[in-house]
Amino acid sequence: MSCKHEAFEASVRVARIEDQGRFMAEIRITCANCGKPMQFMGLEPGLNYDGATVSLDGLEANIGIHPVGQRPNPLQKLMGYTVKAHN
Ligand SMILES: [Zn+2]
Repeated sequence: MSCKHEAFEASVRVARIEDQGRFMAEIRITCANCGKPMQFMGLEPGLNYDGATVSLDGLEANIGIHPVGQRPNPLQKLMGYTVKAHN
């Protein structure tokens, strides 16, 4: 009997890169019924504090995060907003 993967468990860990003052969300998703991990699609492997990447096995998405207000949000970027001071 094959699992139809109808329920999921997601885990998000937040990593602090102390020497850089940066933060990464590390996301994994598995089927709650059979335990099969879900592979993330459309992301390049590597490390990008300002973007999204995936582990070499495709099972962990890493997304750069930042406290709100310290970097332009997507709307502010569209409007040409620039940040004058950031850490
Ligand atoms: Zn399943």
